[in-house]
Amino acid sequence: MLTNMTSLTEFCIQLPKVEAHAHINGSLSPQTLRELVARKVDMNPELAAFTIPDSLDRIDDFFALFKFIYQLTDDESSVAHATKRVMEEFAADGVRYLELRTTPRANLAKGMTKQSYVKTVVSTIQRDCPGTMVTKLILSIDRRNTLEEAQETVDLAIQFAKETNMVVGVDLCGDVMKGSFLALKPAFERAQQHHFNITLHFNEVKENIPEAPDLLSIHPDRLGHATLLDDLSRNTIYQRNIPVEICMTSNVFSKTVATYERHHVKELMDEKHPFILCTDDKGVFASELSNEYVLASKTFGLNRERLFEASFKAIDSIFADQETKDELKAIWLTWKKDHQYLFVE
Ligand SMILES: [Zn+2]
Repeated sequence: MLTNMTSLTEFCIQLPKVEAHAHINGSLSPQTLRELVARKVDMNPELAAFTIPDSLDRIDDFFALFKFIYQLTDDESSVAHATKRVMEEFAADGVRYLELRTTPRANLAKGMTKQSYVKTVVSTIQRDCPGTMVTKLILSIDRRNTLEEAQETVDLAIQFAKETNMVVGVDLCGDVMKGSFLALKPAFERAQQHHFNITLHFNEVKENIPEAPDLLSIHPDRLGHATLLDDLSRNTIYQRNIPVEICMTSNVFSKTVATYERHHVKELMDEKHPFILCTDDKGVFASELSNEYVLASKTFGLNRERLFEASFKAIDSIFADQETKDELKAIWLTWKKDHQYLFVE
């Protein structure tokens, strides 16, 4: 009998899942990074000297790793290849609905503008998204952006939402110790006037807490991390039922959460507050979305029924209309009916 049972890992891969917090560049797997190096190494032989870490304990410098990744995705064809591979990897891991996010980047030396960057990502999603998955895009505003740059990102969101139905939201991201939300707030308000959903990287470190009221004042549709909840943030998030994007591995390795056992998703689960298990940077942190479900299960004793419930409830928090949510829920329920044997533990 035992040999017929599916492992927890296999269950979590097969489980249909929603991924709502995934930065394209941080999601590139070691294999994809090697492919990108191979495409560029003739012109940039120094790229071959960088050791691509295959596991987390081999990374001692995240900053150097991200610098290397940005060198690999500095032209349109590399951005297209990276986006395609990220979608394929999420689909292979059982993701059925994906919201990718990225900060528009220009590299004029290689003819890439912020507009052509977004166009490349959007057309790659249209052309190469695997048939088992829906992919949408969130454009990120970096905390270091000027208001003018932030407005440019909103312009791009408006343009590509009109031309396609791909862009569904605008995000605040970047170095948590830099910039000020208030300086960028007009750009987020304009995004809202154009009916974009808003998600904000929120309260990751204690230095963020003083500006939490400003972030909450625009009524974001979701929050990323929301690691440290002071009373005002906690009350507001619970009263307004704001869903939280939860990235356990990312938080522990970024040291914003001390241990998995002390992760704040526990409180959200106890309070029956909406959350979505996500990866943040699945490449850099070497953790697929299925692994985040394994971690949640092992850390908090969630059985397979509870894992399904977490994945199913996450659908309510995606940036999509009710019709799309209902279609996804039907897919989840059919899958469950057809895979009852996987629920045997
Ligand atoms: Zn993030």
